[in-house]
Amino acid sequence: MMKKEPFVSKEQLEEIVKKYPTPFHLYDEKGIRANAQAVKDAFSWNKGYKEYFAVKAEPNPFIIQILKEYGCGCDCSSMTELMLSDAVGIRGEDIMFSSNNTPAEEFRVADELGAVINLDDITHIDFLEKTIGKIPETISCRYNPGGVYEISNGIMDNPGDAKYGFTKEQLFEGYRILKEKGAKRFGLHSFLVSNTVTNDYYPALAKTLFELAVEIQEKLGIKISFINLSGGVGIAYTPEQTPNDIQAIGEGVHKVFDEVLVPAGLGDTAIYTEMGRFMTGPYGCLVTRAVHEKHTYKDYIGVDACAANLMRPAMYGAYHHITVMGKENEPCEYKYDVVGSLCENNDKFAVDRMLPKIETGDLLVIHDTGAHGFAMGYNYNGRLWSAEVLLKEDGSAQLIRRAQTPKDYFATFDCFDILKDMKY
Ligand SMILES: *Cc1c(COP(=O)(O)O)cnc(C)c1O
Repeated sequence: MMKKEPFVSKEQLEEIVKKYPTPFHLYDEKGIRANAQAVKDAFSWNKGYKEYFAVKAEPNPFIIQILKEYGCGCDCSSMTELMLSDAVGIRGEDIMFSSNNTPAEEFRVADELGAVINLDDITHIDFLEKTIGKIPETISCRYNPGGVYEISNGIMDNPGDAKYGFTKEQLFEGYRILKEKGAKRFGLHSFLVSNTVTNDYYPALAKTLFELAVEIQEKLGIKISFINLSGGVGIAYTPEQTPNDIQAIGEGVHKVFDEVLVPAGLGDTAIYTEMGRFMTGPYGCLVTRAVHEKHTYKDYIGVDACAANLMRPAMYGAYHHITVMGKENEPCEYKYDVVGSLCENNDKFAVDRMLPKIETGDLLVIHDTGAHGFAMGYNYNGRLWSAEVLLKEDGSAQLIRRAQTPKDYFATFDCFDILKDMKY
């Protein structure tokens, strides 16, 4: 069992909350940098390797800028994600546009930025051609093998139920059509399982895709230039889980690369990844304060954050570890539901969680919110988005997104005069 410890001390946090009131998401610059370097090192055996950070996981330009220093591009799937990538100077083939059910306008912008377009469906070939008036020279297709996806540790997920990607037949037909229409450089992409906590997922997926690339070359005479393993490399949310070892994962992919691609004369294939969760997940936390305690049929701790700040527990029943700051070494003898203030009974960060005795005013750190945390925020019950703060390497804190204000929340009512005289 791993002891999960916050990347920030109680003393540091008490200083930060003087300036930035709770709740807020806090990010660990040092951790993000060390991990980005480790990812880069793990795949350095592959000459064309590139990580396209999945912007949806943490769409903050300050964070993306840090990742850019380690050679990361952006994986985008919407207009505003493309705009964000452009704003931090990530353009051209440093953008992977892996969208689905894509609006015409977004293909247009992706093309204007020179992004690599990763098609989700065979019908998108015509749709793209009609929209931008051509088929780009570089193009990628997303593969969905269907059925269930099994690796040595058992069934991982059910791609047959997923809305994404081409069937195998469509994939062969798609590449043939794309070549006919003038495409010159081809990519292959697949995303089969989310949040895998095993070093075997990427190597197993790589083997599937590498063998497919060889088959495509044999049957169609089309050379796949890059293979995109996409996201899905997970993190250890619970103390019982063993975190993935990116070095071992990189070596695992290297091994199948040497076994499958090299003998087929495809040793110059570039490997791409589109990790989101693995890049930032553990390096963010939600800082919140206990504001109420309630004892009825269960014991509740009410905090000043809610599911609008972190949706994963409400949405998936996901576990997020909680540290009560300053009480790390006290026995976990109290069973609490840690709840937010939404009028929704699933607004609980923890259910029946054993924790030290919590007093009103205690600072709580909810771990592993650095990816798909703030990003999934919403405004239900008129709850506002929190701030995002970066804990810099020198220990200082930098505001990297201010909290939403009522004025922001009401901004889209600018057609409604009465709100012009708003008091707060
Ligand atoms: C969500 C997503 C990712 C990132 O997934 P993680 O699990 O955060 O690594 C990558 N690529 C695509 C196409 C996605 O939809």
